[in-house]
Amino acid sequence: MLQQTQVKTVIPYFERWLQAFPTIAALATADLQQVLKVWQGLGYYARARNLHRAAQEILQHHQGIFPTELEAVLALPGIGRTTAGGILSAAYNQRVPILDGNVKRVLARVVALETAPNRTIARLWQASTVLLDPDNPRDFNQALMDLGATVCTPKHPACLICPWKEYCRAHTLNMQDELPVSETRPPLPRKSIGVGVIWNAAGEILIDRRRPEGLLGGLWEFPGGKIEPGETVEECIQREIREELGIEIAVGDRLITINHTYSHFHVTLHVHHCHHLSGEPQPIESDEVRWVQVTELEKFPFPKANIHIINALLAGE
Ligand code: SF4
Repeated sequence: MLQQTQVKTVIPYFERWLQAFPTIAALATADLQQVLKVWQGLGYYARARNLHRAAQEILQHHQGIFPTELEAVLALPGIGRTTAGGILSAAYNQRVPILDGNVKRVLARVVALETAPNRTIARLWQASTVLLDPDNPRDFNQALMDLGATVCTPKHPACLICPWKEYCRAHTLNMQDELPVSETRPPLPRKSIGVGVIWNAAGEILIDRRRPEGLLGGLWEFPGGKIEPGETVEECIQREIREELGIEIAVGDRLITINHTYSHFHVTLHVHHCHHLSGEPQPIESDEVRWVQVTELEKFPFPKANIHIINALLAGE
């Protein structure tokens, strides 16, 4: 849960999660839709799907007990080297290094790394391995993460109170404010999406469930797709609905416009009310389609950007 997310944001989700799934077996046997619903709002849904699959693998291959060998831990879905090191050192006091965002920054300063950390990752792993206290790996890794979170902070590191100031090259060279070298990233692309809230004669709305793989996999959404060059929002919605669901609709008034940022792109959702004209909806590019009442929408896991659409509908807009 803590990947890409701050502790204070995670705490209420963590508590809700443990209430819903108090054991590995409880998580492994839960329905994916329930898992995604409990996770809803935390974002990066691949983490929820990976946790679910990892619990299932632990139940199947490790008698329901979390493995203690590095190779077996790394083989679980969603667990990379840092997470594996964090778990094995914290839970079993094993001599396994870590390299999360805070640790990368601390070590890049300690060795005065002349390139962006992600371009010289092998050197930082080596530093984390060499420095690890073989007698106290649990405390050492925890202290290293804490040092990054509280003393060697991204801006204005508090070198004067740092226990490593005598050994730190950045401090010696008075370069602590310039390091680590920042990654030059191109600006995020923006996608414009036309979205239809499709009503039928019975006053129900059409929603579809995304395929399990990929971004937001397994979540429900209001159908739509990318606006092609030269296309109006209305034309896009009509075309997408025909291609994805095999039905004809009339596109009506704008309901809401939503801007949202994912890790690799910005998205603008242009959402319109639509009316079903003909055809039986088919899940051509999704796993399932359903007609539901507005009041039922809250039962389904939706991506964060879609929650604004639901709120607008509940407010009767
Ligand atoms: S001396 Fe300063 S730059 Fe070096 S590790 Fe400590 S806080 Fe970070």
